[in-house]
Amino acid sequence: MTDKFWLTTSLKDMTHEQWESLCDGCAKCCCVQFIDDDDNLLMQTDVSCRLLDTDTLYCKDYQNRTSKIPDCVQLTPETIEEYFWLPDTCAYRLVAEGKDLPSWHYLISGDKELVHKKGHSIQGKVISETKLTAEEVEDRIISWIPLSD
Ligand code: SF4
Ligand code: SF4
Repeated sequence: MTDKFWLTTSLKDMTHEQWESLCDGCAKCCCVQFIDDDDNLLMQTDVSCRLLDTDTLYCKDYQNRTSKIPDCVQLTPETIEEYFWLPDTCAYRLVAEGKDLPSWHYLISGDKELVHKKGHSIQGKVISETKLTAEEVEDRIISWIPLSD
């Protein structure tokens, strides 16, 4: 449906619109994470950020997200390689690695719902941070990723 600009344009040369359009809306990067300094681990939970609408997976205040949520990840071409923990389905990660987007990505399929229908998003798999206490959030760690030194 669209020319595959992500195969011919490097992340740093993309327009703002191209860059923004890459996101598939999976919201996997919108879950609460902790860093365990003692064991040098990144701990990921199945608890979504308090600004995430868990039905649509849209951020409720995208424009002001970093001022409201200091830990919100703001990907840029310069920082993408720091985010080694991004899911292997993340379009930014795929393009940074020189790979094509998956067939269910809306830029290929034309269907923004397919990421959810195919189970590649967090829709229906998370609980909002707003419904839990801080202690309850810490009890919902689902993966541990070693951090490099
Ligand atoms: S993990 Fe990647 S593709 Fe998914 S919402 Fe985050 S930035 Fe977008
Ligand atoms: S502030 Fe918005 S974009 Fe950032 S993690 Fe939360 S829901 Fe996601």
